[in-house]
Amino acid sequence: MDDKVLESMMPYFLESYANPASHTHLSGRAAARAVESARRSVADNLGADPEEIIFTSGATESINMALRGVAELNRKKGDHIITWATEHNAVLETIEHLRQVGYKVTLLPAGRDGIPDTEALKREINESTILIVCMAANNETGVISPVTEIAEIAEDHGIIYFCDATQAIGKIPFRFRTNGVHIGSFSAHKFHGPKGVGGLYVSRRSPRVAIKPISFGGGHERGFRPGTLNVPGIIGMSKALELAEDSIWEEMSRISAMRTRLEQGIGTSGNVHINGSVKDRLPNTSNLMIRGVKNERLITSLPELDFAIGSACTSVIPRPSHVLKSMGMTDEECDSSVRLSISRYTSDREIESAIVLFNDAISGLRNTTSE
Ligand SMILES: *Cc1c(COP(=O)(O)O)cnc(C)c1O
Repeated sequence: MDDKVLESMMPYFLESYANPASHTHLSGRAAARAVESARRSVADNLGADPEEIIFTSGATESINMALRGVAELNRKKGDHIITWATEHNAVLETIEHLRQVGYKVTLLPAGRDGIPDTEALKREINESTILIVCMAANNETGVISPVTEIAEIAEDHGIIYFCDATQAIGKIPFRFRTNGVHIGSFSAHKFHGPKGVGGLYVSRRSPRVAIKPISFGGGHERGFRPGTLNVPGIIGMSKALELAEDSIWEEMSRISAMRTRLEQGIGTSGNVHINGSVKDRLPNTSNLMIRGVKNERLITSLPELDFAIGSACTSVIPRPSHVLKSMGMTDEECDSSVRLSISRYTSDREIESAIVLFNDAISGLRNTTSE
């Protein structure tokens, strides 16, 4: 987390501890003002109006609220949902729940480049389609989706478009309304903010999107997300987003240059491939297939480096990435793939030492397997 983010949060843990829902005292009203000013800032940075932002505990909660909230409200209109197999588990599991309670689901595969295919989408739309779900950028490959194209298709058919923008926000310029997104999710810790706080964008004009609340309580967040607000988290998230947006253009080119250096450096080991589109990609993410090397063995031989197989482990038993599988990769190719991410805190020196460590580990593992 950014130091400046922590600094902005501290007063709300200590001296300004009041509950923003307590309107009877000055301290409560001051906390409410701080939350509303954070909401304005978050909205400004995301191309939204303040009343279109609902604060939540993170993207997972926002996704549940959005998908279930839209599906339940539109049940009479239709029961068909379209999404892609490359979505985050928070989306896939929520949609699986909806399928189990009677909705019809079309799960589209991605191409080898990982880019969601809009032609396939058009073919699957029918009169009972109520919801199209497509992320802005993929968390495992960094591949960027054709969000505005999907939004146009949704608009043409009068269907609601939900976009999980958790990976894009703070890494590439992203504006909900300009992109034509009707409803979308984000999470502070993906842009150097605190964990456990995020938000949901719900368009209130052209079109006005309605959702049915899925939890009930004290009427906070206009009744959509009841429960005492995480004031320090909300303040920290707005600060983190301001910092990310302030330097987004410089950081995009600086980080992608570092990523290129990293990929070229590891590439000298030979037989290394970039998974997914090389062109339409976030600047910080690199998903590499290193042939002849098992990813689990690479991870255990590189304890100095923090990197992952697919997404942050969602299960105790490692399984091949559902994202890479849906892009048509074999189990063996998936088992040789790793995801590396860098950030605005990564230094050139760290990139150079990572390259040396990777190349040593790769040649070590290739030698032992060929013996
Ligand atoms: C991280 C992530 C989520 C989940 O965010 P939480 O903060 O864990 O709720 C959802 N979607 C995408 C694309 C993500 O990268």
